[in-house]
Amino acid sequence: MSTRIYDCLKAIGDKIIENKDFLTDLDREIGDADHGVNMARGFQSVIEKVSQDDPDIGACLKKTGMTLLSTVGGASGPLYGTAYMEAGKVLMGKETLSSEDLRLALEAAIAGIQKRGKAEKGEKTMLDSLIPAYEVYCDKIANGASTIEALDAACVAANEGIEYTKTIAATKGRASYLGDRSIGHQDPGATSLTFTLETIRDFIKG
Ligand code: ADP
Ligand code: MG
Repeated sequence: MSTRIYDCLKAIGDKIIENKDFLTDLDREIGDADHGVNMARGFQSVIEKVSQDDPDIGACLKKTGMTLLSTVGGASGPLYGTAYMEAGKVLMGKETLSSEDLRLALEAAIAGIQKRGKAEKGEKTMLDSLIPAYEVYCDKIANGASTIEALDAACVAANEGIEYTKTIAATKGRASYLGDRSIGHQDPGATSLTFTLETIRDFIKG
């Protein structure tokens, strides 16, 4: 028997591992061709290390963050690691999530990424998918939408965020070394982040 939070983390891991080559190819264009490899290695470890029968969502997310921090190199390891750890802190002790819990977790994840990486929206990073997704999610919930409806809209915004990263030059991370030559390429981190949100959405739907 496994818990729902384990199954959700496993689904995220499977999606990242499935897209390992795609994410790595995106990073080959504007980085050092390791984003998919990094993230797949990290989530392979998450799948092995997170307890299958611990129902505590916060504890499992914290463990996920610590595992990513110690197994994923580069910029994305500390950034995703912090995001999961901060989300875990606000969900500690919870075995089910309300719309508001999910909002708090997303908010904490963004704050963690920004504290570590010092990036804002518009710098061609994972935040260009995550921040618009969060803003749309909040908007939908405030207007009476269900969690699923809000997540659906958030995923649309995250995908629009990927498209937006194609139009701008990177000013943070390795891709910033390319300056304007990074224009025209989609950001690998925004892409893995969108896969993550879509998997959470599908998981909650399913
Ligand atoms: P590295 O760039 O060290 O090789 P990865 O290739 O695993 O690390 O991850 C690159 C991704 O990390 C980028 O596509 C971008 O989305 C994200 N990233 C890089 N720097 C930052 C930052 N300061 N804040 C937020 N995200 C960042
Ligand atoms: Mg890289």
